[in-house]
Amino acid sequence: MSEIKWDEKFRDFLKRYYWDDILLLANEYPEMRSIVVDFPDLEQFDSDLAHELLEHPDDVIPYAEQALREIDIPIEKDLDDAHVQFINIPNRIGIRDLRSKHLLKFISIEGMIRKATEVRPKVTNAAFMCMRCENTSYEPQDGPKFVEPNECENESCGKKGPFKLLIDQSTFVDAQKLQVQESPENLKGGSQPQSLDVDAEDDLAGIVKPGDRLVINGILRSHQRTLREGKSTFYDLVLHANSLEYVDQEFDELDITPEDEETILDMSKDPNIYNNIIGSIAPSIYGYEDIKEALSLQLFSAVPKMLPDGSRVRGDIHILLVGDPGIAKSQLLRYMVKISPRGVFASGKSASSSGLTAAAVKDDLGDGRWTLEAGALVMADMGLASVDEMDKMSKEDKSALHEAMEQQTISVAKAGILATLKSRCALLGAANPKYGRFDKYEGLAEQINMPPALISRFDLIFILLDVPDRTKDSNIANHILKSHYAGELSEQRQKLPTSTVSEEDVESHMEVILPTIDNDLMRKYVAYARRKVFPIMEDEAREHIINYYLDLRRQGEGKDAPVPVTARQLEALVRLAEASARIRLSNVVTLDDAKRTTRISMACMRQVGVD
Ligand code: ADP
Ligand code: MG
Repeated sequence: MSEIKWDEKFRDFLKRYYWDDILLLANEYPEMRSIVVDFPDLEQFDSDLAHELLEHPDDVIPYAEQALREIDIPIEKDLDDAHVQFINIPNRIGIRDLRSKHLLKFISIEGMIRKATEVRPKVTNAAFMCMRCENTSYEPQDGPKFVEPNECENESCGKKGPFKLLIDQSTFVDAQKLQVQESPENLKGGSQPQSLDVDAEDDLAGIVKPGDRLVINGILRSHQRTLREGKSTFYDLVLHANSLEYVDQEFDELDITPEDEETILDMSKDPNIYNNIIGSIAPSIYGYEDIKEALSLQLFSAVPKMLPDGSRVRGDIHILLVGDPGIAKSQLLRYMVKISPRGVFASGKSASSSGLTAAAVKDDLGDGRWTLEAGALVMADMGLASVDEMDKMSKEDKSALHEAMEQQTISVAKAGILATLKSRCALLGAANPKYGRFDKYEGLAEQINMPPALISRFDLIFILLDVPDRTKDSNIANHILKSHYAGELSEQRQKLPTSTVSEEDVESHMEVILPTIDNDLMRKYVAYARRKVFPIMEDEAREHIINYYLDLRRQGEGKDAPVPVTARQLEALVRLAEASARIRLSNVVTLDDAKRTTRISMACMRQVGVD
């Protein structure tokens, strides 16, 4: 297809398909600067042109924009800097699957914004004055490096400068750099997320925040890396954004097919559903039935409530595990990330500059500009954040966590960056006691180095003591050893037909590590429940919970209980009871749900000393 026709084709196309948008743009320009073309429309209009756009966007897009400028509009206005954005691009490529063959192609990626720099002007066409002859010349600035004239273009001068940059005659555009990272729900088995840098310019700059989930469409470019010794042969990838699409927060979760739905509904009717769910939580970890039950409730969570006065009560359940080292706290945390539809694992002592919440930092991405970076609790928005070693987190994180846990937002105000990020996630924390072992007679807050106000924001706190007990110890030992050899034995049996390992041997070993419900199905089950089930409490259940709460208050009175009993606990009980109803996909919170809740709460309270 000859290039000459492209602008004509685009003119036809835009007039036919987007006339109303063009009129709107003309009216609102320059506040509005782009028209947004749905790629399938272009494909329908002219599939060759659509194909060319995907293959040679750098050649084709300028023609689209030229066409837009040349269309006769009924208003006196020139649309010099108007853009044509394209959305619903079929070339969706995973960040980790980007390869050199995608360079300079029009592609689409999906992910979560991890970092965003401040918006700053970037020069696109620099005006220079020759200091010898005062001739003005222009240097277009397309790449990442600033280009200066080699010599004066005035033939009678031709000197190599010096040149003076004329700011008022140069052209600038708003520019921002973003870093987008694979979303937690698209990571299998807790692998490390990969990321990609994105250039957002003009009307695309300054509209996204860290934690936003987006589809970004644009042209993939590369920049040569520079090393101290010179240029490298390796190139870094940058996506030059053409358009941004917000992903619907609720619906981009796992694909649940009609067959899945049937399976899920069947599972929910099994009278053993609670045991099946509990049996699918970290089966290689022995015991801890109470904790696993609580973790099940946390996975399903409750429904957030909007009160008539506009305030919001969170539905997410926060759980803290405190205890001696070596009792599988970290293992539990990692496992929960695997089966949560959106799980993020982090450590309180992590080296990342954003910490757990968010931070304004100066780093490479921003070339010295301030960059807002999202931490684990933002990346886990609408999911679960497992945070290990909470006792070792920074002062900044500790203070930001109050807001993050209750309001489920994180505010950052530093160096001209003012932002409120969303952190609507459940927090599963683990903390080691300061002196290695937990001391029953010392205060909890002091031992895990966390202020009581923060501790009180957890719905459930489990204190795990590693007290030697011959029967229990031998059970754990057997369980651990079996799980260690399970994989090996089954492999041996498969590889060596003559192996002496019997099928029964393999089964008895496998039993201890296989979840009742496999991880993928579990994630779907949880996602389905959270999407479809919004339980309401029955009177009997409400009475049971209120009576239990009143008893707690009475017992807590006068004692210097480590965790004061406040209305927070009441809210926690309601959340747990709703989650319990969700497990069997029921829209009614029954007395049984209420009883399950108070039983778990009692198990916790006994440990923290409200007897
Ligand atoms: P923590 O974070 O509490 O210090 P870890 O999660 O690192 O402990 O666990 C230490 C090791 O002990 C892990 O390999 C874990 O599997 C094992 N372990 C401890 N308790 C149990 C248990 N109850 N069942 C199975 N394994 C256990
Ligand atoms: Mg640990």
